[in-house]
Amino acid sequence: MLFSGDFSAAVYQSDSGSGSGQVSGASGGASGGAVKDILADKGGEIHTITTGHTVQEVIDMLNSFKIGALVVADDSNRPIGIVSERDVVVGIGQKGPELFAEKIDTIMTANPVCCAPDARVHEVMQKMTDGRFRHMPVVSDGKLCGMISIGDVVRKRLLELEYENEQMMAYMSG
Ligand code: AMP
Repeated sequence: MLFSGDFSAAVYQSDSGSGSGQVSGASGGASGGAVKDILADKGGEIHTITTGHTVQEVIDMLNSFKIGALVVADDSNRPIGIVSERDVVVGIGQKGPELFAEKIDTIMTANPVCCAPDARVHEVMQKMTDGRFRHMPVVSDGKLCGMISIGDVVRKRLLELEYENEQMMAYMSG
């Protein structure tokens, strides 16, 4: 299932941070951009799947959308899990082709670490590095509103660092 959101306006509210591992928002005056800036640039497409589906269906969706992970959402559009290409590879390594017909519940990671739209990009990058995963659902008021990947985060950080560098050079050259 594919959801689109409007991320062009400042409609985001920092999530209260309920749920394990939630990156809740700006903290301690941290510098750098926010996750909502990434979503504004890339759009609000979120590819989701529900638990009744098979691993084969996950593979088909990952291939057809050319993405690395799907959010497993409930009927209220709340993220209850995440299933990535890594889960498929590990599952095939363990079970072989039998895995294709199994339900995704057998390979998904339940209760994924999520972030709020106001979370700082560098915080999310740290969470991804610490947790050794490359995807993070973005949640507002408990509901999915985006999905970001390590590629999005690295791209954003590079732009920020380039900008900071240019400002510094301009300041030094007077
Ligand atoms: P990835 O690097 O995103 O392909 O995922 C590597 C492993 O981490 C897989 O087992 C995923 O199910 C899991 N994973 C991916 N994203 C998250 C997340 N946001 N929170 C928790 N686990 C995740």
